[in-house]
Amino acid sequence: MSNANVDEILNQLLLFLSDESDSLDYTPKKKEKPDSSSSSLYERACSRNSDLCTKMNFSYDFSDNEKYYYFNQIDQAISLLEDPLSQYRSLWKTLESINLFLTKWNRRGSSSWYKMTFYLGGLKYENEFFQVLTHELWHIVDLGILQGTAKKKDHDFTEFDTPKFSIDDPSLEYYAFSRDSETIRKSWVKRKDFCSWYGMNDPFEDFAECHNLYLNHQKLFRFFTQSSDILKDKYNYFANLYAWMYFSNDEDHLDDFSPSSRVWDTTRMNQK
Ligand SMILES: [Zn+2]
Repeated sequence: MSNANVDEILNQLLLFLSDESDSLDYTPKKKEKPDSSSSSLYERACSRNSDLCTKMNFSYDFSDNEKYYYFNQIDQAISLLEDPLSQYRSLWKTLESINLFLTKWNRRGSSSWYKMTFYLGGLKYENEFFQVLTHELWHIVDLGILQGTAKKKDHDFTEFDTPKFSIDDPSLEYYAFSRDSETIRKSWVKRKDFCSWYGMNDPFEDFAECHNLYLNHQKLFRFFTQSSDILKDKYNYFANLYAWMYFSNDEDHLDDFSPSSRVWDTTRMNQK
C-alpha cells in the first residue's frame, strides 16, 4: 500500500468518524432566541399585565429599570389583595390611574377612591415604597371598594363634608372603634389605641396606617394589641377581611418597642 493510499484511507476514515459523531449527537440544536433587546424590561412586563401598564403614568425622567421596579411592586401588592377583596369589588377594576413622579413633594403619596399619586424623591428606605403603596391602596379600598347598599347616608363621616358613606358601609364599623365622628375622637381613646401618631389625625389615615402595620408588620401589630382592646378590634378587622393573609410578619422590630410605644408613621419603619 503506497503512502498516498494510506493517506486517502485515513482521510476517508476521519470523514466517516466525523459524520458518525455528528449523527450520534442527539443534543437538540438550540433555536435562535427571538431578539428581545429591542423591547425593554418594562415593555416585556407589560405584556404579562397590560391592564396595569395602561394605568401607570411615569414622569419623563424614569429609567426602564425604575419603571420595571415600580410595576412589579404594584403588581405584587394588588395581586395579593385582589382575591380577598373581590367579595366586595375588584381592586384591579376600581383603581383607574397610578401617577409616579421622581420628584419630592411634601407628601410621598396621595389617593382618591380611584387614583394614586406618588412623589418618590422623599423615599429613604429600600422597602419604603411598598409600605407607602400599602398605605395608599387602603384609601382606594376604604373609599372605592368597601361600600354599603343602603340609600341612607351617614352624616358623621363624609368625603370633604359631603355625606357619601351608606349607613351599612363596612368602613363605619372601623371608624367607630375610636371616633364619634370624622373630627371627634372618642373621649377615652389614647395614643396606644392607634397604629401610629399620624393615624390619630383622622379616621381615614388611622385606617390606612393600620392597614400597613397589619400587612407589612403583622407580628408587631399583634404585639401592640397587648396594650389596647381598641387596637385588638382594629387588628381583628383586617384579619377577618384578609382571612389572616399578610405580606410580612416582620419579627425584626419586636425588640425595638414596648407594647404601648408607637411610631410617628408606620411606612417609615426601616427594615433591619
Ligand atoms: Zn393616607
